[in-house]
Amino acid sequence: MRGKSPYLEDMEWPVEALNDPPRALRGLAKIVDGGLCHRCGSCVGICPTGVLGFDKSDYPEVKNLSACTDCDLCVKVCPGDEFAFERLHENQFQKVPDIENTHGSFLEATIAYSSQAQVREDGTSGGVITGLLEQMLESGAIDGAVVIQSDENVLWKGKPVIARTREEIRRATKSKYAISPTNSVFSEILRQPGRYAFVGLPCQIHGFVKACELDPRLRERVVVTIGLFCHAAIEHEAFEIIWESLGERARGAKRFISRIGKHPGAPHIELADGSLYPVYFGDMRGYRPSSMEVINILYRLYTPPRCLTCFDALAEFADIAVGDPWMAPPEDNIDFKEGYSFVLLRTDRGRDVYRVACERGALVSMPITEKEALACNRKMATEKRWRAFRVIETHRRQGKSIPAYGDAARRFPRHSGLQFLETEAHMLSHIFCFIPKLRKPVLQFFLGKGGYLLLWLNNKRRWLRFFLRDQTALWKRRLYGRR
Ligand SMILES: Cc1cc2nc3c(=O)[nH]c(=O)nc-3n(C[C@H](O)[C@H](O)[C@H](O)COP(=O)(O)OP(=O)(O)OC[C@H]3O[C@@H](n4cnc5c(N)ncnc54)[C@H](O)[C@@H]3O)c2cc1C
Ligand code: SF4
Ligand code: SF4
Ligand code: SF4
Repeated sequence: MRGKSPYLEDMEWPVEALNDPPRALRGLAKIVDGGLCHRCGSCVGICPTGVLGFDKSDYPEVKNLSACTDCDLCVKVCPGDEFAFERLHENQFQKVPDIENTHGSFLEATIAYSSQAQVREDGTSGGVITGLLEQMLESGAIDGAVVIQSDENVLWKGKPVIARTREEIRRATKSKYAISPTNSVFSEILRQPGRYAFVGLPCQIHGFVKACELDPRLRERVVVTIGLFCHAAIEHEAFEIIWESLGERARGAKRFISRIGKHPGAPHIELADGSLYPVYFGDMRGYRPSSMEVINILYRLYTPPRCLTCFDALAEFADIAVGDPWMAPPEDNIDFKEGYSFVLLRTDRGRDVYRVACERGALVSMPITEKEALACNRKMATEKRWRAFRVIETHRRQGKSIPAYGDAARRFPRHSGLQFLETEAHMLSHIFCFIPKLRKPVLQFFLGKGGYLLLWLNNKRRWLRFFLRDQTALWKRRLYGRR
């Protein structure tokens, strides 16, 4: 956990403001100190007078106190503090959300990939987001896209930008698992009229939805929102430790690439001479853990506090939601290792831009059934939702700050004994998120020989699990056909 935040203490209050800091900033400090900030950047992006910036962990920080007019927009926009899930869902989809359905409202579901081989190859999953943004930019449907590029100074960090050329969109391909304050770009969208696409994590889409209520120009200028699925982000500290473990090599690196190779892929750094070096166990021969295998450890140690109370896994408020196809392949001739994205088209405007991209040949798309879509990523989404309910409930009892999700978080969904046990086991696996002092040595252990052995054993277990899942699906298809 972040512990006692220095938010207020570190601020350089001008003398005349010492006894009377603006009420709004006190409110914002309470949100950050209470562990409710998910670092979406909305407060920074919406502030009309440029009062706020970021600290080194990307939490909002006061940079220019004398410009604060106490307008309270920064607090009102904050989705970490308050997000009226049911009311906003009804506004967007004209129906009450079913809180037991982790997949939210959607019109169609597909698996897809970019028709450009390079984009598919470079994309995190099937390169659908990059392919779609490029098509929209080149056809004139947008003037720019809000994306996350790699920070040129701290390579593992993301940096929000508005990409206005094909090259800039391409430079942003690949997921960055350290959270980046995407919504800080609201200020640029508000300053510069135009049509934009917005790519963000579920919490960032929440910030966007709230910001549109406060400033309708954002709703007019952003023609489509594309949400990424998200189990959790990873604290910056984890990447700092990993970076240290790379020693001298990291100092000469030009780029951090979160995944080379198709799902699950493996992270690499690009060295000064252009060659690639694996981030994990680069000196070992044979087995080398994938991105996903190490990220599963990182999540257990370094899930940020607000991610533990976040229950939107599949970007329920985006026009289009995109993730990995965590499911058995729906046809015998589909090999997910070639690169596929799983896509939920949630709104008419999302479906329209997606259809145009398919008709113009930018995307190759295959519909999947509702049943297949609801099974895809279900384990991750259910785990996340139940984790959030569990932590919110505990924090409520302990009198700690909790996010205001309206009625959504007050109604604990019906649950079986098995669901209860699974949630408790999942919570136990996150124990180190609640004892931050111990997690550094644990991560260091996993980056050493003992950790390598455990990862290897876990790899065999996972291989068997997926083999059995895919074989069962194959035999079911042969016996009953695809339903
Ligand atoms: C923190 C995080 C957690 C995720 N967890 C899951 C998960 O549990 N299950 C799952 O199925 N998928 C998850 N994803 C999504 C998945 O990794 C892919 O991003 C998604 O499938 C899209 O792939 P693509 O090839 O179509 O996108 P690409 O063509 O590779 O484009 C990716 C786009 O995402 C943007 N982006 C990258 N990192 C960030 C970021 N940190 N914040 C905002 N935008 C960003 C880039 O700007 C780029 O435009 C996660 C992504 C992130 C960033
Ligand atoms: S708006 Fe976003 S960045 Fe600002 S305090 Fe709230 S959650 Fe944090
Ligand atoms: S949004 Fe308003 S209250 Fe918040 S920091 Fe900016 S000027 Fe101050
Ligand atoms: S888990 Fe929620 S709060 Fe955390 S990064 Fe993902 S969407 Fe944002």
